[in-house]
Amino acid sequence: MGSRFEITVVSTNEELGHINIEEAIAEITRIEKLISAWNPDSETSLINKNAGIKPVKVSLELFNLIERAKQLSNLTDGAFDISYSSLDKVWRFDGSMKDIPTKEQIKNSISKIGHEKIILDTKAQTVFLKQKGMKISFGAMGKGYAADKAKSLLVSKQVIAGIINAGGDLTTWGTKASGEKWLIGIANPLNKERIFSWLPIVESSVATSGNYEKFVTFKGKRYSHIIDPRTGYPTIGINSVSIFAKDAELCDALATAVYVMGTETGLSLINQLANTEVIIVDDKNKMFKSDGVLFETNP
Ligand code: ADP
Ligand code: MG
Repeated sequence: MGSRFEITVVSTNEELGHINIEEAIAEITRIEKLISAWNPDSETSLINKNAGIKPVKVSLELFNLIERAKQLSNLTDGAFDISYSSLDKVWRFDGSMKDIPTKEQIKNSISKIGHEKIILDTKAQTVFLKQKGMKISFGAMGKGYAADKAKSLLVSKQVIAGIINAGGDLTTWGTKASGEKWLIGIANPLNKERIFSWLPIVESSVATSGNYEKFVTFKGKRYSHIIDPRTGYPTIGINSVSIFAKDAELCDALATAVYVMGTETGLSLINQLANTEVIIVDDKNKMFKSDGVLFETNP
């Protein structure tokens, strides 16, 4: 999925622990095959190929994932949108961009974006992208989804505790073998080497979106890989967003969404959602947190 997964399990038996890890890897690989927009044989690619042509019958799993993605678009006023993907050709983060895109290119691409143009038919279990050239992809929620699924697989195999870490987006269950809570360190924005504080992660997940990994720089300005689907331009103002909630998929998607929405709107959205918290570091390295974040400075 374009990022490094780390799997930790607590087990009374080392051999069994390794078997469980292999099972988790197989599950993540299975999901990648289903949702990857790069793999031409995936269900997702089939949907994209038939944009503007016809509805495509898909597995219930992918159908439900797309349904949840659309709900997230509604919740975030379109800040999160899996059809942002038609901009992939315009904003490229593989080193092949020579200049920022023209206004014309942006306009052309955003005309093919819109979660309301992803048509779901529950009865027929089909997905139809209404417009030719439309594309969906799961860069902003797939890792979280895969982590959740790997976790539930292991839970179903009676693995008592563990961590599925999908490139920094992670979900945990149970406790360390010692009985202590899993803790996540929050880096001090002014000194990345130092942990600012520790938060216990009990039966829950965390995901971070930031501008420090994938970006391009033109004339000294940094353009991140998180793009406002409504304008077609990378959003500015925030360095990182970490979301804490039960499921990694929700954390992953909301981290991207809040990054796009900005500090004020993002905070107010998260404060309205039960059991969901956020820590935002803005581009002046100022830290903001939702009402429920309580720091434990001495773990
Ligand atoms: P990371 O992959 O670094 O963990 P995110 O979870 O925030 O970061 O996902 C960013 C990826 O999501 C981008 O690389 C792109 O593929 C996709 N994306 C960018 N902007 C949006 C958006 N507004 N809505 C949905 N997906 C997006
Ligand atoms: Mg995300």
